[in-house]
Amino acid sequence: MPITSKDGRSRSDRLAKLDEFFDLVIVGGGVTGAGIFSEACKRGLKTLLIEQKDFSWGTSSRSSKMVHGGIRYLKEAKPGLTRDSVVQRDRLLKEAPGLVHRLGFILPSYNGQVFNRWMIRSGILTYDLIALRFTGRYFTPEQLQSLAPGIRQKGLHGASGFFDASTDDARMVLRLIQQGEAYGGIALNYCKGKKIIRDGEKISHFVVEDQLVDPLDSQKPENFTTPVQTRCVINATGAWVDNLRGQSGKKPIIRPLRGSHLVLPNWRIPVSQAVSTNHPQDGRPVYLYPWEGATIIGTTDLDHRADLDLEPRISLGEATYLLEAAQHLFPAAKITSNDIIASWSGVRPVIGSKPSKGKKIDPSKESRESLICDDQGLITVTGGKLTTFHLSALEGLEKAKPYLPGASEKAAGGPIIDPALAPEKLRTQLKPEVSEQLTTDQLSRICGRFGDQAAKVIAAADHGELDLIPATHTLWVELRWAARAEQVEQLEDLLLRRTRIGILLENACQEHIQKIRQICQSELGWDDLTWQIQAAKWREVWQQAYSSPFSGTMAQQQATA
Ligand SMILES: Cc1cc2nc3c(=O)[nH]c(=O)nc-3n(C[C@H](O)[C@H](O)[C@H](O)COP(=O)(O)OP(=O)(O)OC[C@H]3O[C@@H](n4cnc5c(N)ncnc54)[C@H](O)[C@@H]3O)c2cc1C
Repeated sequence: MPITSKDGRSRSDRLAKLDEFFDLVIVGGGVTGAGIFSEACKRGLKTLLIEQKDFSWGTSSRSSKMVHGGIRYLKEAKPGLTRDSVVQRDRLLKEAPGLVHRLGFILPSYNGQVFNRWMIRSGILTYDLIALRFTGRYFTPEQLQSLAPGIRQKGLHGASGFFDASTDDARMVLRLIQQGEAYGGIALNYCKGKKIIRDGEKISHFVVEDQLVDPLDSQKPENFTTPVQTRCVINATGAWVDNLRGQSGKKPIIRPLRGSHLVLPNWRIPVSQAVSTNHPQDGRPVYLYPWEGATIIGTTDLDHRADLDLEPRISLGEATYLLEAAQHLFPAAKITSNDIIASWSGVRPVIGSKPSKGKKIDPSKESRESLICDDQGLITVTGGKLTTFHLSALEGLEKAKPYLPGASEKAAGGPIIDPALAPEKLRTQLKPEVSEQLTTDQLSRICGRFGDQAAKVIAAADHGELDLIPATHTLWVELRWAARAEQVEQLEDLLLRRTRIGILLENACQEHIQKIRQICQSELGWDDLTWQIQAAKWREVWQQAYSSPFSGTMAQQQATA
């Protein structure tokens, strides 16, 4: 399989660098690892990031995509966590327009919930006070009809509203990784961290293994497993952190908790803001929200007992629970299981609390705070949230300081995300016939997602590729650019994480598969056989973990499980 992208460094260029000394090796290519990578590279540290599968393959492509202050932490009397989160949210909104957007939240209240209504309103007021930004609103039932058409009318009193934000989590990870590489770092996907080698107590090497080479292949290159010289390793492997920590005899700390989502075409429940309902079964909040042209229903919170190295998938029970929430809040939409076009699940890397009287506490009551610790040069950074990745990165680097004498403090306090071109500025660089095809929102999207590559992305468009992929906000050229320049190794990388059309379109994107094939073959040099293998693998992954749990293979597997 060809592994050279036409733009910038190739995979073999990156692999060749593994012979060199690195100040720091970061294990895990989720948002935590990517955030640390970007900061470390800015500080002049020679840094390597490795990800065992694809960048953001773990939880960081499977979140609910909210960049939020966590109004619920107020209820849990954790104002510090709320304060940190709203500050990070506001920084990301300012620094990454086009990637992080304001998203309105609506909390409807019904007859008999007078106390609840006042609790919500005072909660929002406190939340806004913490953020020093007053976004709280009250909507009448009539106003709600246009904001959330079809919302349950019976007993509806009105709704409280406020603003938070949402993003594309996988693109956030990629932007951070690309930023780190622009400062001289090396980031490799499909490269697994195997073990630490010590010289006395000090780390001397970290063994990494190329996952794209078949270990049984007699022709495999010598550097298929490489001991990389380093003094410090950051374990940013999310729900997997116990694997590396376990090598030095540490007890497991993670309680993996699964959360799942269902995807509907937006026209079935055309919400323009996130709408919350307390689930009729257990009172847990469930949200319906717009994302990338679809409506998402999420999420659940339960112990995940399956092998972490397999794609997590929604159970029929979770899917039924989420569907019930949508039917309860939007009865007029008459949603059925046939309306669900896709799903995804992720595993929260939650630090488990001590069981009380031998029983684990309710998953939703487990703390979402992060854990940072040092085991003689192996720094573990986990827990936390997508929203607060930058704080975890700073704390992780602070902990690693004794092992990083060369770190420059100059970068400290700079932006989390380096500024991209403003859309108006980008427009001035485009030919008039190109400019007229793109709205300002689309230019902003390209700047937000592709940073300083934005002009090159647009220039890469073939005929018709500045058009939208139907039912999504994605332009065809995003696919071409990602295939060309963003370390795509498998078809699933392109459809699930560089773009998100794999979870936004029905039936594993089959309607557009010939066009996708043409882009992959021209940009990645895949011959017909390689394409067929990739396409078959993609369909299998999609059916197992991203299809509607009510239909096809996933339903059959669940029925026989
Ligand atoms: C359902 C759900 C909804 C969520 N919603 C939100 C939300 O709306 N807002 C929010 O702020 N937060 C949210 N979160 C939390 C947030 O997604 C996570 O906190 C965050 O993504 C964790 O990032 P991470 O980098 O620590 O872990 P991960 O993203 O899991 O990254 C760890 C990576 O390490 C890799 N890895 C493991 N072992 C090795 C090895 N040996 N060598 C190399 N690589 C390895 C894995 O493949 C993985 O990609 C949600 C979480 C879930 C599950």
